[in-house]
Amino acid sequence: MSERLPTLVLVGRPNVGKSTLFNRLTRSRDALVANVPGLTRDRRYGRGKVGGRPYLVVDTAGFDPTAKEGLTAEMVRQAELAIREADLVLFVVDGRAGLTPHDEAIADYLRALGVAVRVLVNKTEGLDRAIARADFYALGFGEPLSISASHGDGVREMIHEVLAPFPKPKPNKDPLAERETEETEREGIRVAVLGRPNVGKSTLINALIGEERLIAYDMPGTTRDAIDVPFEHNGRPYTLVDTAGVRKKGRVTDTIEKFSVIKALQAVENANVAILTLDATQEVGEQDAHLGGFILETGRALVIAVNKWDAADAYQRQRIKTQLAHKLAFLSFAPVVFLSAKTGKGLDALMRAVDQAYAAAMKKLPTPQLTRVLQELVKRQAPPRHGLFRPKPRYAHQGGSNPPIIVIHGNALEHLPKSYLRYLEHGFTEAFGLKGTPLRLELRTSH
Ligand code: GDP
Ligand code: GDP
Repeated sequence: MSERLPTLVLVGRPNVGKSTLFNRLTRSRDALVANVPGLTRDRRYGRGKVGGRPYLVVDTAGFDPTAKEGLTAEMVRQAELAIREADLVLFVVDGRAGLTPHDEAIADYLRALGVAVRVLVNKTEGLDRAIARADFYALGFGEPLSISASHGDGVREMIHEVLAPFPKPKPNKDPLAERETEETEREGIRVAVLGRPNVGKSTLINALIGEERLIAYDMPGTTRDAIDVPFEHNGRPYTLVDTAGVRKKGRVTDTIEKFSVIKALQAVENANVAILTLDATQEVGEQDAHLGGFILETGRALVIAVNKWDAADAYQRQRIKTQLAHKLAFLSFAPVVFLSAKTGKGLDALMRAVDQAYAAAMKKLPTPQLTRVLQELVKRQAPPRHGLFRPKPRYAHQGGSNPPIIVIHGNALEHLPKSYLRYLEHGFTEAFGLKGTPLRLELRTSH
């Protein structure tokens, strides 16, 4: 059932423009997400869309296969794993600097891994593209493509070309929103469990589906592929999406396989509800925030599971509550459940929260009510004037589910400040009881 998004991984020596390209490739059309306070911008993975085709992109910035010092082992593992799991490696080189021995060393490394590679010659704005490219045929990965990541030249064409061989998604269809209700009823809510290593994901999954079941699905040859595992909780059916890589204790000989960011990201894409798992005895870190930011971008419903509550002392319990409020403030729409996967305490509450988040994500929002709520919100707080313009939201209708899309019609709406959009978002969430799902606001302006 799971569909896989094409996964592009950026590799290259420092300063060739990988981060610049990453930002361009992942620049969200949803300004709300891009401007969420508290969400750091230096993410290493994200999603993008061109011509209706979504893709995942991973930046291995800081990862240099020819000089591994100075990096934590975990980062090196993650980067190498991403490269191995990439559908295509985008090998970025600098068209102004020309071919360097360092590029050649990276080429050797990539060749040894046997991954599919396309060379991108960056910084070619104002250069003769053919000449800038010429040097790089020598890397042996076929015809290089010229781009300028900072100016944007050639980037759209490049992404079109590299995505061309991948199967096209059905036009204008979100596979989840379009799922037959019957199918959802049979399979239940599709749930993905995410979290950084050691927060207790395997333990949680075992607690939910039972170790026996997990072993049954942990068959040689199938473990690297996406596997959906059906299970029941309190008599209700669910499907755990893409649990490959989460194994029974002791069977994971290759730690590299245990936590794969790409697999986790693919799983969210194919889920209705994501469970972001945190460790109550640890501080909330960058990695937690990045995963949360990614889930927010996908628009999936979200429940935050604070695990190992049994092991946390009073200080740690207070600390994680405070850090949730600050470091993960942008996920305030998500319910938080404190639990112990080990003892099973809190599992019922977790699954209740999953049910509620799903119900919120799928809720029907009738036009008259939406419009009434919108008008009340505008009355309570009018949008600020912008120069000569006074934005005026007039009415709203629902444009989709999971995440709910609210289409707002009115005048000069492009001048609504982000803070005002967040105010509206909050208002809709409150009015319709949409706890657990992010919202998407789409603005339709008439002049
Ligand atoms: P990274 O280390 O590979 O991630 O490289 P960065 O994205 O940080 O870019 C390194 C430098 O190259 C920065 O100063 C960028 O502004 C610059 N840069 C990136 N893309 C381009 C480009 O297309 N043209 C030019 N002229 N400079 C670029
Ligand atoms: P994963 O890497 O996220 O899959 O984490 P694991 O499920 O492998 O758990 C990592 C460690 O945390 C193991 O030693 C587990 O026994 C322990 N652990 C997991 N859940 C809990 C819990 O609820 N309470 C306590 N005290 N320990 C837990």
